[in-house]
Amino acid sequence: MKAVLRETRDLAADVRHFVFELEGVERFEFTPGQFVSLHGQLGGKQITRAYSLAAAPAGNRIELCLNRVEGGLFSPHLFTLAPGDAVELTGPVGYFVPRPAVRTTVLVATGTGIAPFRAMLPSLLAAADSHTVTLLFGTRREESILYRDEWENWERRHGRFRFWPTLSRAGETWTGRRGYVQASLAEALGGSLDADVFVCGLKAMVDEVRALGKALGLDRKQIVYEKYD
Ligand SMILES: Cc1cc2nc3c(=O)[nH]c(=O)nc-3n(C[C@H](O)[C@H](O)[C@H](O)COP(=O)(O)OP(=O)(O)OC[C@H]3O[C@@H](n4cnc5c(N)ncnc54)[C@H](O)[C@@H]3O)c2cc1C
Repeated sequence: MKAVLRETRDLAADVRHFVFELEGVERFEFTPGQFVSLHGQLGGKQITRAYSLAAAPAGNRIELCLNRVEGGLFSPHLFTLAPGDAVELTGPVGYFVPRPAVRTTVLVATGTGIAPFRAMLPSLLAAADSHTVTLLFGTRREESILYRDEWENWERRHGRFRFWPTLSRAGETWTGRRGYVQASLAEALGGSLDADVFVCGLKAMVDEVRALGKALGLDRKQIVYEKYD
């Protein structure tokens, strides 16, 4: 498919939100949590990279949340795209998809690993249930809390949703959580082992959260994850 870039919005330093329209497609069906592959020809080489869909299905529009990886092959190229430019896209694919949030649900992300949760949250909160859904988001500084207003709005509208940004290099004025997301996992579970944990981001964090979840008594099937590297 051909995806034509319609708009972009900078979310933080080197993190950008992209909105594409798929040409010749009326409705792009996918399950929130899935990803697409973008393809390009760079320096005579065919390159393919995966990107999580960052919004629930909406006609032929898709949204992505991209990090410009310094020294990376493809992501710096995507940051040169302007509205009207097109890229080749295939998908959707992937098994990182939500289960109905009818028990304690903890979503753990660092950086652009937050993208699939932006797509999943509306359906997760649609279930008539009172169990908590907690989004633990780890980043360095307050300026890089991605989609902060949106999560805070969800919190106001749904008493069972909690957004817990956790900063590893917070300034003095920050009164919220400090350190790494791992430190808040036990508290987010609230002593419950009747829980599902979804983890998305770079391998090192994902592996640590999985190990911690197991140490806390969760079965490996209760920890669903997507690794970006
Ligand atoms: C299933 C899946 C979904 C993904 N979804 C997203 C997404 O929604 N948004 C997104 O920005 N990336 C996402 N990625 C990562 C993406 O596919 C690329 O790996 C990333 O854009 C780097 O590509 P590159 O060619 O610029 O770098 P490469 O030349 O391939 O260099 C790879 C280096 O980039 C690092 N890296 C990979 N992803 C990131 C990242 N997000 N932030 C910081 N460092 C990274 C790796 O550790 C590695 O060292 C996803 C990966 C997978 C497997």
